Amino acid sequence: MDRVERAVGAVVGSAVGDALGAPFEFGAAGVFSARFPEPGCGGEMCGGGGWEPGEATDDTQMAVCVGESLVERGGLDLPDVFARFRRWAAADPKDIGLQTEDVLTNGLPWDRAADEHFRTHHRAAGNGALMRAATSGVYFAGRGRTATVEAGRRLAALTHGDPAAWEGTAIFHDLLRIALEGADPVEAVPDALAVVDPGHRERYATVLAPGWRPEQATEFNGAVWPCLGSAVWAVRTTGSYEEAVRAAIDLGGDTDTVGAVTGALAGAVHGAGSLPGRWTTSLHVPLPGSGGRVLRVSDLSALAVRLAESARR
Ligand SMILES: [Mg+2]
Repeated sequence: MDRVERAVGAVVGSAVGDALGAPFEFGAAGVFSARFPEPGCGGEMCGGGGWEPGEATDDTQMAVCVGESLVERGGLDLPDVFARFRRWAAADPKDIGLQTEDVLTNGLPWDRAADEHFRTHHRAAGNGALMRAATSGVYFAGRGRTATVEAGRRLAALTHGDPAAWEGTAIFHDLLRIALEGADPVEAVPDALAVVDPGHRERYATVLAPGWRPEQATEFNGAVWPCLGSAVWAVRTTGSYEEAVRAAIDLGGDTDTVGAVTGALAGAVHGAGSLPGRWTTSLHVPLPGSGGRVLRVSDLSALAVRLAESARR
């Protein structure tokens, strides 16, 4: 399997996990498997809770904003990414994280908005930066560990002032980089942890440890630590894209985002060919603020290819 197939797997896999999990958001653990007991039986991309079958949410919409900025600007242009986020937020998306909304609508410039929010609210370690990192993870993967980790931090900091959110996104970028190389990201967790800011390392080491299970989480999985831990757990304890995403969504809680993060990692590990066709056919990403564009799987795949190939230049 080549790097581009893994890149498409990561970007489309994240969107599929998001759309599959969206109808189950804030539900209890076990709801998904009670309704769909066996893998492969079909009907899982069911819609509900205001979402059409196959409709991706803010996680994927923001990931597209990031990815299109990177390819169109030819690199990391943080004011441009922030401007795209603001245009999207102003167009009344169906869902938007509370903190993200506040930061994108407080009228402050790109380099002060998140920081100011964190100073006022003191809590900003949600998974809302991690959830949109599949596209940037693919783009920066070819640029090496230091570059991808630092880009992860800076993109997270656009909306999240808490360094815990930066470090989680940085780790995720590095795990994606490893998976895109064809190596096992689960085995590389200790290497990824080594680049984490020492003040944040222990907490991530806990949720990424081989024996950690999502039931042991000390916060709701809308927080960055258990969200990342659950995604790595889902990939570690399953053997396919489908099983990993099923396991993640069956945890309940913030199912679209845990599905999106898991789907990115599992898609990079198992490749685009591992994504069930019955899940990708109805996949669509309406993009508020873009003049009514709706991306389909072919558009997302094309974006993933551009992100993966620009990394070689
Ligand atoms: Mg969402």
